[in-house]
Amino acid sequence: MEPEKIFTGVAASPGIGIGPVFPLEKEELVIYRRSIPKEDVKKEIARLRAALQKTTKEMKHDRGEMLRALGKTHARLADAYLMILEDPILTKDIEREIAKELLNAEFVIQSALEKISHTFDALSDDYFRERKNDILEVGDKILRHLLGKEKTAPAEMERESIVAAHNLLPSDTIALKTRLIRGFAIDVGGKTSHTALLAQSLEIPAVVGLKDITAHLKSGDTLIIDGYKGKVILNPAAETLKIYLKEKEAQVRKTRELVKLKDLPATTEDGKRVELASNIETSEDVRSVLAHGSEGIGLFRTEYLFMNRESLPTEEEQFEHYVKVVKQMKPHATIFRTLDIGGDKLSPFIEGFAREENPFLGLRAIRFSLKYPDIFKVQLRALLRSSHYGKVRIMFPMVSGVQDFLLAKEILESVKTELMKADKPVANKIEVGAMIEVPSAALTADLIAKEADFLSIGTNDLIQYTLAVDRVNENVASLYEPMHLSILRLIKMVADAAHARGKWVGVCGEMAANLEFTQLLLGLGVDELSVVPSFIPILKKLIRSTQLSESKKLADAIMSAADPAEAQERLRKFKL
Ligand code: PEP
Ligand code: MG
Repeated sequence: MEPEKIFTGVAASPGIGIGPVFPLEKEELVIYRRSIPKEDVKKEIARLRAALQKTTKEMKHDRGEMLRALGKTHARLADAYLMILEDPILTKDIEREIAKELLNAEFVIQSALEKISHTFDALSDDYFRERKNDILEVGDKILRHLLGKEKTAPAEMERESIVAAHNLLPSDTIALKTRLIRGFAIDVGGKTSHTALLAQSLEIPAVVGLKDITAHLKSGDTLIIDGYKGKVILNPAAETLKIYLKEKEAQVRKTRELVKLKDLPATTEDGKRVELASNIETSEDVRSVLAHGSEGIGLFRTEYLFMNRESLPTEEEQFEHYVKVVKQMKPHATIFRTLDIGGDKLSPFIEGFAREENPFLGLRAIRFSLKYPDIFKVQLRALLRSSHYGKVRIMFPMVSGVQDFLLAKEILESVKTELMKADKPVANKIEVGAMIEVPSAALTADLIAKEADFLSIGTNDLIQYTLAVDRVNENVASLYEPMHLSILRLIKMVADAAHARGKWVGVCGEMAANLEFTQLLLGLGVDELSVVPSFIPILKKLIRSTQLSESKKLADAIMSAADPAEAQERLRKFKL
């Protein structure tokens, strides 16, 4: 028996999975360079076009299957692939190169893919690096059609297994029986890769970015996936297996216990009622929100309806999407965040988007909506119309201060008046809130709290902008410090400002979903936490065993620490 081997990658979806490996193999393609006579150029281009057509057809077919099997969120990944397929780098540019260099289509495509690969490798941004993998996969599909080596469907999975693959394509997932998958071990990808998103929504443990793990595996191997720590253990020793089996058992027991809390309130031992809400991206996530006992939606990221498409969603399309959520969530509230496009959230229809040198500091979120009021008004009409069917709250992202909050509110009021004049039913009172995610907004939260019905702190951006640390740049990831005194002071300042005006304050950034920080946030005065639905039960358990008075003492102790290291130490001691 070979000794156990440990691989380290990126923890993409939490949980522990143990089982035999199920390798999704891919036959390597061999590409030859072939010169073609000038008179054959037309024929070669026709061959390329035929391959592109076959690829489009195959991907459209996959999209339909994915829609049926996995729902809209994942089918949208196939849309992204279809868009890549229309990109000139894989169409017009290749044709031009074939005619110019008199070379075969396969070789020209392969060279283009290598160039793309180098360009993307030079970028430090995780998001763009993921897109590189997408382009390479689409290129691979075209090459297979050109070579007549279409990928065969993976072998039938017959028992519970761990899927190991170089990359997991959206189309692969249709062929797999997801109920038998106990984990994913994937060579490429980061936290925002498609596999990561898919695994999270299927609640299957996953580790990605393992580089070359597939080269070390053979069938019959056993794998342990530790989706908490980003580790994969190949052929574990008896002792390791025992430890992990025990941990997995404890995890199952914990989950069973947590389910019992589903309908109980998140109230601390000394009586502070905390609102526990969910962050979602599409209407399909509502099922998970309700299943985990969430009390509402604290952040609906509406921009996902605008991404991966060439044209804007119409008022009707948006209305249908929003109203579906509102009706299902009734009597609970849904906080719709208006379009937060820009930054790392791209959309091809945004005019001038590609030209921004500094998109995180550019025309993002409410700035975009205020510059293009026509787009903004369509969204507001759809949101206001849906307010008639349940409890709708509206929140503006990335306000810099009270001025842009008031401007946005003014537009909202004008749209409301228009709708009422046209006899369209709209709820009487709709609470309007501001996201506090820019330091200038946090520092003037008192002025914003006077005008807003609630404040919600977006810590992902607040940390990024306060510490000047790009949230998706791994080179500076160690500087991304939620415990930095500046962040804690700002959170406290915002909470105090809201309370002074009798308003409530929430946190909807990732900090709210980190159990390390729950008591600290409550101690700083936060009234609501909004997190991915699967975190709700464990957070509820923690809150129900918390004394708010103790949390306040903890917050005071941490606020007086000299640096993040000392703050960490005080936090650790509190937990003992
Ligand atoms: C945040 O910035 O913390 C937030 C919740 O918004 P997003 O992550 O969508 O930017
Ligand atoms: Mg944000």
